[in-house]
Amino acid sequence: MKKPIITFARWGNYTIAFKTIFEQLGLEVIPPEKTTSQTIAEGAKIAPEMYCFPLKVTLGNYLPALKKGANTIFMVQNVGGSCRQRYYGAIQEKVLKEAGHDINFLDFRATPKDIYSMIKKISGASLLQVLKAGRFFFKKLHLIEKIEKLAQFCRPREIEKGITDKILQESLLKLDELKKEKDFQELKKEILKRFSGIKIEKNKDLPKVGLIGEIYTVCDPTINFEVERKLGLEGIGVYREMDITYHIKKLIFPWKDWIIQRKINPYLKSTVGGHGRDAIYEMLHYIKEDFDGIIHLLPFGCMPEVTIRPILEKIHLESGIPFLSISLDEQTAEAGIDTRLEAFTDVVRNYHQYKSSKL
Ligand code: SF4
Repeated sequence: MKKPIITFARWGNYTIAFKTIFEQLGLEVIPPEKTTSQTIAEGAKIAPEMYCFPLKVTLGNYLPALKKGANTIFMVQNVGGSCRQRYYGAIQEKVLKEAGHDINFLDFRATPKDIYSMIKKISGASLLQVLKAGRFFFKKLHLIEKIEKLAQFCRPREIEKGITDKILQESLLKLDELKKEKDFQELKKEILKRFSGIKIEKNKDLPKVGLIGEIYTVCDPTINFEVERKLGLEGIGVYREMDITYHIKKLIFPWKDWIIQRKINPYLKSTVGGHGRDAIYEMLHYIKEDFDGIIHLLPFGCMPEVTIRPILEKIHLESGIPFLSISLDEQTAEAGIDTRLEAFTDVVRNYHQYKSSKL
């Protein structure tokens, strides 16, 4: 067997944490490059046309890494819910092999047992080494989510324009370069200190927008054209509940799904796969919390999100909350998204002012 040189699907800032696992196990890894319109176009060229958008993007992400010498692709299968992600591995392997790539495609279920056996098979690592790598992975992952949330909070309130993004990018870079777990705590302290040093207008009255939708799309700023950043810079408070920790918590505590189902019963009585139910639940929650707008992000071809979109529209009509649903695919142009966001921002501001004037 050839020496494995690993690559994997890119997923926003989480890519930093995924890379760490392979590095910690002494494996050679060529991380996927940042997603660009070129990446997307290359992936879409070889992917089945009607498949959901993330499959095309991730295919496009593999190609530069394969050119650089990667020969093994890691793909984790979704184990919860019925969704096309389960077939990503089988389809991507077929498509890449048909395109002439001589690869070893490791497609496995996201259960601790399967992940461990797969990692052990290619790295020969002991259980202890795998656990240590996993611990470092989770430390990085939680810090990434924490600083993304801090950036969401600081951006619309910052006094020096652009300082939040500068600190966010520098922090992510340092986290990416961090190779030893023993240095993690010190770096974490340094990063959090920098964020707490950002001068903000603490009592600024902000309109609030909740971001809901498909997990990959809402969490990866390069896929959603940096919706969070753009709204934040316009002085809109952006909130997003959906992230990997949310997803993991639902796997560990399955009764959370039962609670969600109870809350959304008047609108949907069954599962639709993916995170369709969560989007309805989140929208109802944000309305209860007196938000001023909801943005729903969905990739083209995503059955769960397409199925629930009319329900979200119904909730929007009943509640009057401004609502924008954005479907993303390889044809989507950033200028079009920016225009829609600008118009939506005006609607959200007016709605916020109208509500305040009635108090
Ligand atoms: S949630 Fe939607 S976009 Fe994501 S993998 Fe499933 S079907 Fe595709």
